[in-house]
This record gives sequence, structure tokens and C-alpha cells, in this order.
Amino acid sequence: MSNCIFCKIVREEAPAAIVYRDEQVTAFRDIHPAAPTHILIVPNRHIDSVNALTAEDESLAGHLLTVAGQLAAREGIAETGYRVITNTGPHGGQTVSHLHVHLIGGQPMRHPMG
Ligand code: AMP
Repeated sequence: MSNCIFCKIVREEAPAAIVYRDEQVTAFRDIHPAAPTHILIVPNRHIDSVNALTAEDESLAGHLLTVAGQLAAREGIAETGYRVITNTGPHGGQTVSHLHVHLIGGQPMRHPMG
């Protein structure tokens, strides 16, 4: 998607603090961090949201979580804990229509679910 900001970050056409990249996903620091660690992990291929995932994406969807865990360890927050969140659609609070996993930690999470 030519106008998608996360696609531009993946293609390195827009600036971002990239912390991890492989053939399937790219991870970079959120521009408005909600906690000391706030990393977004996105598929390199444009996928709008969880709604657009198909059975063929199961390996990729799992990889997003696996990378989240690896980056949590690298950030030193694996033992203290963290949140992994994927917002979907208007009620979910999704503001960027490119599937992404938030990895948030480094402080106790204050906001309850819902
Ligand atoms: P969501 O509201 O779940 O769609 O999350 C979108 C996230 O993307 C927000 O936390 C934004 O702060 C973050 N964000 C938007 N644009 C950028 C950008 N150019 N670089 C890094 N993070 C961004």
C-alpha cells in the first residue's frame, strides 16, 4: 500500500527507530510511547488488521508473537512482564490500518481492559 505509513517504514521510505527486522516482520519504537518500552511489530506485507488474516497467515501471526517475546527479553522486561496488544477496528482503537502488535512494558500497566 503506497500511502500506508507502516509500509513506508518497512520499505525505509519513512523514518523509524527500527529495532528488529527479518523476512516476515519489522519492529520499531512507537513514536508516542505509552511506557518505557513501546515497540510495534508489523508484518512486512500489508495486512489491514486481524480481520484480514487467513489460514495461510497462521505462521506469520504466530511469528509476530514469537518476535514480541524475543524483543521483550532483549529489552529486559520479560521477567517483570508486559502487554502485547493488537487493536482492531474503531471499537478496538485501531488508528493505523496495517496490522501491528504493541509490545508495552517497563512499568506496571495501569489501564484495565475494556
Ligand atoms: P493503534 O492505535 O493500535 O492503531 O496504534 C498505532 C500506533 O502507531 C500508535 O501507538 C502510534 O503512536 C503509532 N505510530 C503512528 N505513526 C507512527 C510512526 N510514524 N512511527 C512510529 N509509530 C507510529
